[in-house]
Amino acid sequence: MNALMMQQPLLISSLIEHAERHHGATEIVSRRVEGDIHRTTYRELAERSRRLANAVAALGVGSGDRVATLAWNGYRHMELYYAVSGSGAVLHTLNPRLHPDQVVWIADHAEDQVLFFDLSFLPLVEAIASRVATIKAFVVMTDRAHMPAASSAIPNLLCYEELVEAASDRFTWPRLDENSASSLCYTSGTTGHPKGALYSHRSTVLHTYAAALPDSLNCSARDVILPVVPMFHVNAWGLPYIACMVGAKLVFPGPFLDGKSLHDLFENEGVTMSAGVPTVWQGLLAHVEANQLQFSTMRRTVIGGSACPPAMMRAFQARYGVQVLHAWGMTELSPLGTACCLLPKHAQLDEADRLAVQAKQGRVVFGVDMKIVDGDGQALAHDGKTSGELLVKGPWVIRSYFKGEGGDPLVISDGEAWFPTGDVATIDADGYMQITDRSKDVIKSGGEWISSIDIENIAMAHPGVAMAACIAAAHPKWDERPLLVVTRKPGSTVDRAELLAFFDGKIARWWTPDDVVFVDVIPLGATGKMQKNKLREQLVGYQLPTLQQPATAAAR
Ligand code: AMP
Repeated sequence: MNALMMQQPLLISSLIEHAERHHGATEIVSRRVEGDIHRTTYRELAERSRRLANAVAALGVGSGDRVATLAWNGYRHMELYYAVSGSGAVLHTLNPRLHPDQVVWIADHAEDQVLFFDLSFLPLVEAIASRVATIKAFVVMTDRAHMPAASSAIPNLLCYEELVEAASDRFTWPRLDENSASSLCYTSGTTGHPKGALYSHRSTVLHTYAAALPDSLNCSARDVILPVVPMFHVNAWGLPYIACMVGAKLVFPGPFLDGKSLHDLFENEGVTMSAGVPTVWQGLLAHVEANQLQFSTMRRTVIGGSACPPAMMRAFQARYGVQVLHAWGMTELSPLGTACCLLPKHAQLDEADRLAVQAKQGRVVFGVDMKIVDGDGQALAHDGKTSGELLVKGPWVIRSYFKGEGGDPLVISDGEAWFPTGDVATIDADGYMQITDRSKDVIKSGGEWISSIDIENIAMAHPGVAMAACIAAAHPKWDERPLLVVTRKPGSTVDRAELLAFFDGKIARWWTPDDVVFVDVIPLGATGKMQKNKLREQLVGYQLPTLQQPATAAAR
């Protein structure tokens, strides 16, 4: 028997419509790349999103076409979130921290039609404009007064504010199929080429409901939310959608992510909640400590993307009264999978024991199912001790990468299809998951991926190198940094400096390994594959020369 309920598709446009109608006067504050503070409201943002939807259509963008952005967190980027997805096109948030060659590869793979970019990315766009195959219009996200002079490197350079002003505000959000694609985000978190996670309206709205819950990110209309996590990292963990759903005031930091800029914004705008990777909080805590400051309105911060060090939790909680919510997720999960909220029984724990619970990545949010399995796909005990590969499934987990890149990613366990995360974890009897290792060979530095394969390929191109393996070495600031392990060819005298110089111009500077270790043999498995886990064991506790000084990554 069919139920007698209304059929209403779950659409991203319904979020901005809701915010406009019910939270119209709530503010969205942005520190712009132009340097000033800009204020708008959900009402204005909704109206400008409709104008922008008309403008995007006038640029020839049709249903399902990809529209790319190279942009920081700001209100114009948020307008694009709604205008592009809401009108049936697909928003593709490019990561500007990648090497230009990778940006070109990804834009071509996505077949982006139009690129919207912040002024600060002009040099990057000039470097790629003649190389991208499908982009037919380049829009600078600024007003006429700040437009750069016509650039011979960029054909068809348009001004965002002129497009918005010229377009009509009359636009009816189409009643799309909720399963149609809404946004696209590439990850290099696996092996091979970057792969696209293609989200739908349905997956995004369901993720928004779940992520806003009290034991998830815990957001409400009483919050002032400042997403430090970039809007080009899995849609800023969904916060631009969550804020519309709950009607929270939003504060966008633009490119200014240093401790002082963030603290000023927290205090001036009464921020109650924020979210970001551990690296960015180190800068903030250092600034607050050095200047003996406090947080007068901040109540909670979500920390994820990499494991949150307990010392950071202690500093936020004990010293500044800011509750830390440790969360785990992936691009392939939209991203939220688990959040580490405490249970009533934890109230009795002393600080050290409570921090031990909070150091775990947490319990699944409703909608996601997870389990750990052994090498044969057999489920393992949830005893907090046994570790195995973490598998997940749920309505906001990908079933395939964009264009089938990398083949079918799913594995079958107990007759059902699951997504293998590449993380190795334990799950305890209360359902708290804790990451203990990673089976994927990538390095996560300051919340961004570095492909060990790309680094190895470059090293192997050096005439003096016989074999090269790149592994992650622990770093207190960046969490992990690349360490290159090399065997020389007979007669070769290549040294550290020569090899590191060989990377110049071939990859982003912050991808350059922090050190090179020359060895006689790199251990190989039965199939001839390098056994990086053995190398990691051999080099555990390796002291990088960059431990005391800023890593190369600081340059980014
Ligand atoms: P991304 O797709 O860039 O969001 O990266 C997802 C990966 O980051 C996960 O598969 C983990 O390896 C890692 N990760 C994310 N959150 C955490 C966390 N809280 N603790 C440890 N690793 C994490």
